Amino acid sequence: MARSTTCELSGPKPSPGPWANLSEMCGIFGIEGAPDAANLTYLGLYAEQHRGQESAGIVSWDGGHLHAERGMGKVAEIFDADKLAGLPGDRAIGHTRYSTAGSSVIFNAQPIVVMTSMGPLGIVHNGNLVSAMATRRELEAAGSIFQTTSDSEVFLHLMATHPHEEIVESLLQVLGEVRGAYSLLLISRQGLIAARDPYGFRPLILGDLDGQPCFASESCAFDLLEARPLREVDRGEVVLARGDGIESYRLPPVSRAARCVFEHVYFARPDSEVFSDSVAQSRLGMGARLAREAPVEADLVVPVPDSGLYGALGFSRASGTPLELGLIRNHYIGRTFIEPQQSIRHFGVKVKLNPVRELIAGKRIVLVDDSIVRGTTSRKIVSMVREAGASEVHIRITSPPTEFSCIYGIDTPTRGELIASDHALEEIRRFIRADSLAYLSLEGLLGCVSGRPETYCTACWTGEYPVPGEGHGETQAELFPLRLEAGRQR
Ligand code: AMP
Repeated sequence: MARSTTCELSGPKPSPGPWANLSEMCGIFGIEGAPDAANLTYLGLYAEQHRGQESAGIVSWDGGHLHAERGMGKVAEIFDADKLAGLPGDRAIGHTRYSTAGSSVIFNAQPIVVMTSMGPLGIVHNGNLVSAMATRRELEAAGSIFQTTSDSEVFLHLMATHPHEEIVESLLQVLGEVRGAYSLLLISRQGLIAARDPYGFRPLILGDLDGQPCFASESCAFDLLEARPLREVDRGEVVLARGDGIESYRLPPVSRAARCVFEHVYFARPDSEVFSDSVAQSRLGMGARLAREAPVEADLVVPVPDSGLYGALGFSRASGTPLELGLIRNHYIGRTFIEPQQSIRHFGVKVKLNPVRELIAGKRIVLVDDSIVRGTTSRKIVSMVREAGASEVHIRITSPPTEFSCIYGIDTPTRGELIASDHALEEIRRFIRADSLAYLSLEGLLGCVSGRPETYCTACWTGEYPVPGEGHGETQAELFPLRLEAGRQR
């Protein structure tokens, strides 16, 4: 684990990242040396709300203490002016959570804060550690008492057992012991530390806000703050931000990168750049490619909002078939809604999506969506669109069939629940009752993002897991059984 150059933000970069050309679901943000650090972090999280709506939290350092505030729900529901005023200091990190490991309950909300012999530490983590359960069992056997059921807490316990005068050295040692996906931010009395696993599964970028270093999962957070994006935190890089400068450290290299291409397919915001590529551009490309791979005679292309929007636009442009916004999404759905006793057909989907009859009636429709997971949403949408008068409904999906569960941080159900895990294309088509169904090929998908295909993780389509789980191919739920206590949330 070599230490490299120390540099000012405005000076030479510790290593030339691909950012210059330029995002589990969890969003993280942090800033060092800014007087209103918590407020800026709040805004950064606000921009990254799409990465997790279950809970959010911020922890700040005021030179003497860590101050933390966490809650269930969306960022704007949790924080108000009084709560932000209770987070003083010029160093802060924050998190929006979408649980993939650990139950959806307040004690799993991040940041996780602990007291150690190195002083107080707070952590936010995007990704999943596949080695977390084994490590946790060992630590518990040795007497550790965990506060959460989240895999992220493992980092802190391991750090507490490897104290070091320089806190970054403790983290470097721990990162050499864990396996899996992590983009993380650690707040301590000695600075803010950012780290990305050697495979680079999850995104993490470094920016500059008025000369101060800041970090975000996605560039849309920097856009809101008018921060200047500098570069990606490299895979296997650990960055210590202290005052207005940064120091860069390297973890031992691994043979390949494994960037999650599903960030481009579904997860990231289209106005972000992820892994050096514009998400909007890559989705337009996926739609265009799909139009060439699986053309269909139709009157209208209709996106399934919001994740299907850019793919549908690309499909429409490439095929010459006009696009209409024939499905409308209700953006104001809270965490829960009260379902009436009287049964309403397709209620779960209807409350989110509604067809525009005037546009759809009598038309042959191509519905474009980013993915089919269980197949239940597509089935309901197809029947809603038929009830709205469509004469034909064709489904086009801008990614290959999801056959395997993600163990690196995207929330996918157990393998048995994935419709493509044990059904052929024609069976899926019949289940969702579409007139035709086609998916984008893996080759086609990887042709829409830059870099060599083998630098991406494609495990959800191929079952080739770059870092094996504790028992290769286990699902999130099998890896993290504790999560099931409070039920599954999506
Ligand atoms: P399903 O009914 O299970 O097939 O769900 C398909 C829908 O879920 C698609 O519209 C996708 O945009 C969306 N989707 C895909 N992956 C995820 C995920 N990890 N979390 C939430 N929604 C997702």
